[in-house]
Amino acid sequence: MTEPRDPQRENAEREHPIPSLHTREPSEAAPGGEAAQHQPAREAIFQLAGVSVSYGDKPAVRDITFDIGNNEITALIGPSGCGKSTLIRCLNRMNDLIPSATVSGRLLYHGEDLYAKEVDAVEVRKRIGMVFQKPNPFPKSIYDNIAFGPRVLGMKGSMDDIVERALTRAAVWDEVKDRLKTNAFGMSGGQQQRLCIARCLAVEPDVILMDEPCSALDPISTGKIEDLMLELEKEYSIVIVTHNMQQAARVSDKTAFFTVELDADQKNRTGRVVEFDDTEKIFTNPGDARTEAYVTGKVG
Ligand code: ADP
Repeated sequence: MTEPRDPQRENAEREHPIPSLHTREPSEAAPGGEAAQHQPAREAIFQLAGVSVSYGDKPAVRDITFDIGNNEITALIGPSGCGKSTLIRCLNRMNDLIPSATVSGRLLYHGEDLYAKEVDAVEVRKRIGMVFQKPNPFPKSIYDNIAFGPRVLGMKGSMDDIVERALTRAAVWDEVKDRLKTNAFGMSGGQQQRLCIARCLAVEPDVILMDEPCSALDPISTGKIEDLMLELEKEYSIVIVTHNMQQAARVSDKTAFFTVELDADQKNRTGRVVEFDDTEKIFTNPGDARTEAYVTGKVG
């Protein structure tokens, strides 16, 4: 994670290079537009500049600006209600599915405006997968849970190989290889969560978003998911929302600390990022007293 890399070379070497997210030709305004002129940082996969999200007329998070690094684990931490889930949902346009949600500001993915009108949100969610708090397998066999996405996308190659590769990468193959045709609901909670990660990996994503992926799991299963994240980081970029500070400290490279502030007019409570930095710095030498109070447990 600290070795110098050449992201362009890495991308060229990938089995599945990052395709354009566009389904249509860019609009006339786009080539000269702000997003097109913005030069991405060398290793940033997402660049957020002044991102705000509201539900109806209620702001949820405001003015979020930071870059998310390629092949890194980025943790979003902070008290409940400060907008961590809202922000992570922006990264694969899941908020599009909430009718009252509006997103403003600029959010670039590989230097492309994720919210440009030419961008296909379905393609976005294929490239940027999501794992949720509660494991949510389909009521199907273990095999069919994994094969579902590749079948829908018409992915080439042997389906047996695709299923085995995804389950192996998600460190659950050995536990389930003899019962692939049994219902996924028969798995333990921790196995179901690794199945959901495998389902996400089966469609060859670029980024994995995890919204509190361990909060419904026991400590042993949590440890397995954390080990898995550290393994997956070599090939994928991961963003995780966690209320568990030890987890953020254990697995992440970068941490964004969010808090809730009263707006200037004292009417609305809105999530803001107080500090974004290397995880080690956030936990050992934070730059802001509010971060220090939170990570030392002085405030919840
Ligand atoms: P966190 O993940 O940090 O707990 P959330 O992103 O869930 O925070 O919530 C931030 C704010 O947005 C809260 O005030 C919450 O009530 C509000 N909110 C979240 N989701 C919705 C939604 N679907 N509709 C309306 N308000 C929402």
